[in-house]
Amino acid sequence: MSAAARELAELIREARSVVALTGAGISVPSGIPDFRTPGSGLWENVDPMKVAHIDAWRADPERFWHFYGDRFTTLREKEPNGAHHAMVALERMGHLDAVVTQNIDMLHRRAGTSELVEVHGTIEHSSCLDCGAQYPLDEVRARIAASPISVPACDCGEPLKPDVVLFGEFLPEDALQRAFALAAGADLLLCVGSSLEVHPIAQLPGITKSAGGAVAIITQGPTPWDAHARIRLGGDVVAETQAIVEALGAATPDP
Ligand code: ZN
Repeated sequence: MSAAARELAELIREARSVVALTGAGISVPSGIPDFRTPGSGLWENVDPMKVAHIDAWRADPERFWHFYGDRFTTLREKEPNGAHHAMVALERMGHLDAVVTQNIDMLHRRAGTSELVEVHGTIEHSSCLDCGAQYPLDEVRARIAASPISVPACDCGEPLKPDVVLFGEFLPEDALQRAFALAAGADLLLCVGSSLEVHPIAQLPGITKSAGGAVAIITQGPTPWDAHARIRLGGDVVAETQAIVEALGAATPDP
């Protein structure tokens, strides 16, 4: 284990409140490409800003669901990886208060994280913007399969919208407020697999630091916060997080 990983484990052990902020990089080992990486599978032939935009859903639900239906199927087949499990282990050891995630893939939930704030929504359910009815993923998939044009419809007849934040939509206010409050109260903000470039989540390290907390970063690419982080780990996200759990598990409690 690297000295930096050992040092981070020690910071976590000493902190009163640790909050994790996770992004696309934590799900890459599960086989979910980060669409910001050029040439990454699913998003290769489409412009996500166009196809995953709220205006696209409004204008042409059939085209929208033709793309998104495939995405639902692909994501449902993915499994949480060692980094998701490391977050669960930290929470159960009492070392992690909450996970704030930009991901919509349900993998933190499925791994077993209980305090989870999904600031970009989740594919776990879809809603009718007309009557407000909400349907779980399996029901949405059944309705896609039953529809001749592959558009899941509400009982009222209107097309459903996945409860993920599409481009052009506001982030859910309650989740955002909770994320800001958690960041402000954290002694340590543990950023895992996030490029820390997408606003407003990119503000969280600044909020933690202004409140007197520290920022640690575990991610392979560069982030705007690298120079301001107490600790910066750039190795494989699974190996790094697992090493930290191991170090904390092996740590001898104070006499
Ligand atoms: Zn409806």
